[in-house]
Amino acid sequence: MTDSNKTRVVQIGRSYKDETPKVVNPVIMRGSTVLYGTVEKMNFICDRGEAGENVLRYGSFGTQNAFTLQDVMSEIEGGESTMLFPTGLAAIAHVLISTLKVGDHVLMSEDVYHPARILATKFLAQRGIECEFYACSHKDIAKRLKPNTQMVYLDNPGSITYRIQDLPAIASLLRKRKTLLAVDNTWGAAGLYCPLKLGADISIVAITKYIAGHSDLMMGSVTVNTKARYNLERDARILGQIASPDDCYMALRGLRTVEARLTMHRQHAHQVITAIQDEPDIDQILYPGLTTDTGYVLFKRDFNGSNGLITLVFKPELTEIHIKKFANALRIFGLGASWGGYESLIMIYDKVGGWNGGHVARLHIGLEAPEDLIADIKQALKSMKS
Ligand SMILES: *Cc1c(COP(=O)(O)O)cnc(C)c1O
Repeated sequence: MTDSNKTRVVQIGRSYKDETPKVVNPVIMRGSTVLYGTVEKMNFICDRGEAGENVLRYGSFGTQNAFTLQDVMSEIEGGESTMLFPTGLAAIAHVLISTLKVGDHVLMSEDVYHPARILATKFLAQRGIECEFYACSHKDIAKRLKPNTQMVYLDNPGSITYRIQDLPAIASLLRKRKTLLAVDNTWGAAGLYCPLKLGADISIVAITKYIAGHSDLMMGSVTVNTKARYNLERDARILGQIASPDDCYMALRGLRTVEARLTMHRQHAHQVITAIQDEPDIDQILYPGLTTDTGYVLFKRDFNGSNGLITLVFKPELTEIHIKKFANALRIFGLGASWGGYESLIMIYDKVGGWNGGHVARLHIGLEAPEDLIADIKQALKSMKS
């Protein structure tokens, strides 16, 4: 996040310089019905809403809490407007369903978030949309583009492997086409990465992760530029997609401190990596913020920082049984899906898209004392082989 963004993120949606005493955070506005007073006023408000303005119209179009969160997300992502969804996956689904129709072709990176791959192969493909997976590089996209390629969709960096793709190079391939470029920006949320500024049309964020920040709420956002805005907004209204006022309140509360938390997650991740990288059972640690990482040149050029996600690659001779033992032996790291809360987590996988190396485990490095996390990993590595 740039310095001026940081200030805006703390200030947006709060009027604290007028005469009325008030609490710091915008209050929760729950509601379905909105009362208008006159027919003329009602028609005026509804017309503005249809034109894409955030106006108080009806609960399913959002209330002040949603509007404020949308504005903050648009500010951080550098987009024109933002839509909200009840989960990150619902946000992904909306982008794909609203954009693609029978006979269209979508190119997806082979290292996308696994549920997005399932959505493509088990839902879109059965509805006459051709879903093809490409090998994580713009060169492979260039070979696979067709006249009916309606969307290129990727996670950047890739899910679990954190491989980085050259987004400006992908955008320049698509410049003269109607093809939309969509990026799942959950890894780079809160200003670590701004795909819309590098040529993407759509940036999706699972707010569930770092922005919510406390593992207690689910939400997704889609921020768009002019090219993607009209259809996606219209369809979000048609399909009745929104997030609840209470959840928006919580997400906004998380957002105000996300920069501070990310700084600490990043520092702790670096400390953990330094302390465990020479462990004999660990072959490699995947983390784009390391100068030794294969994606570091692009990371340095396009990203503003890293986070608390690291992936351990175990030595080839270690089996699934060892990895399970390692996960079970950890005492501080919780075993569970998701990440981005204040706490440390581990997740293990049977198969990772685009990865053919040794067994991996993903760690989310939390806000606990790094010394304790390091000691925990070291004792679990020891007991893994016993
Ligand atoms: C968690 C996650 C999602 C989905 O978010 P939910 O709110 O859990 O549905 C999407 N993309 C990425 C990269 C994620 O990590």
